[in-house]
Amino acid sequence: MNDRFAQAAAQQDWMVTHRRHLHRHPEVGIELPDTHAYVARTLTDLGLDVETHPAAGVTARVTGTDPNGVVSILRADLDALPVTERTGLDFASETPGAMHACGHDLHTAMLLGAAKVLADHPPRRDTVLVFQPGEESDRGALAVLQHASLDLAAATAFALHVHATADPGTVLCRPDVFMAFGDWFTIELAGPGGHASQPHLVGNPIDAAGEITAELRRVTAELSDSELVVATVTESRIGNTVNVIPSSGRLRGTIRSLSPQSRSSLIDRMHQIVADVARALELQGDLTIHEGYPAVVNDAAFTGRLVEQLEQLDGLSVARMTEPSMVIEDFAYFLQRWPGAMVYLGARGAGNTSFNHADDVVYDESVLTIGAALQLLVADGL
Ligand SMILES: [Zn+2]
Ligand SMILES: [Zn+2]
Repeated sequence: MNDRFAQAAAQQDWMVTHRRHLHRHPEVGIELPDTHAYVARTLTDLGLDVETHPAAGVTARVTGTDPNGVVSILRADLDALPVTERTGLDFASETPGAMHACGHDLHTAMLLGAAKVLADHPPRRDTVLVFQPGEESDRGALAVLQHASLDLAAATAFALHVHATADPGTVLCRPDVFMAFGDWFTIELAGPGGHASQPHLVGNPIDAAGEITAELRRVTAELSDSELVVATVTESRIGNTVNVIPSSGRLRGTIRSLSPQSRSSLIDRMHQIVADVARALELQGDLTIHEGYPAVVNDAAFTGRLVEQLEQLDGLSVARMTEPSMVIEDFAYFLQRWPGAMVYLGARGAGNTSFNHADDVVYDESVLTIGAALQLLVADGL
């Protein structure tokens, strides 16, 4: 067993304690006062040099023994989701309507575990530990890059994400595009409205919504022949009674794509679909795209060195993903500034069949050791 794995394993119980505290007390969004204070206090107690910012979370620095000018940035996210927990765990959320359903409590505990090891056994490289809020939809990574002292010319950035349905201990890697571009859309439909007895006289936004939804499925299937794209309608608000054809309606949803080219082809086709369907029904249709997160693009050389190291370790199974994940992550912004990588760490809890974000998802805490060890290996330099 690698020394770093042994050192991480020695912190397993300590990490479980912190993970369960965080799991019981989740906070959602970008300002996470209790979580920030808890993490900052834990790091300060370890004797580390800590910086906090209300919108940028907590960062800590560790001086390396053999710094070569390249700094290792290790990032964990801190935020929970607005989900009511249904796991029945004895350390389930005590905050109504909030749950660590994406596993960010595990990420935080892993990086705290790595910090504890590094406080006693410094890394080779200078290392910055980043505990970031607001990953889920607040672009917390941008706040970190703006407000934390990260003026680092030569650095690598690394993060991992637990995967609720992959075998515990499996590391899923991919060079280049690892996760998708993600955007949101709104479609507004408007018409004259009318009496329910005269559907032949006025266009019905409900008919338009049905046709648009069906066309989006057809077109995304067609475009996905060359490169996977997704356009999913997730919300429809049209009509409010039984005998009136509504005069307006709104659809909202998500799009995902794997390259700027396929993203723009998809958006072009969506504009066309909305215009064609609206015109045929003599309605007005407007599509608005709300820019989301860029794709997570791993540095191929960094990922290659990481995989090479991981494959030499016993008890770890490294799998290369054939397709990128259609999930999105704001760690993308770190990887736009520095080379590095994100990997998935399989963390399926016993009997769990739910994916990240489900209200009954259960993760395997034994992966805390592996997660901390991966962070330590990167801190020593790849
Ligand atoms: Zn998530
Ligand atoms: Zn997440």
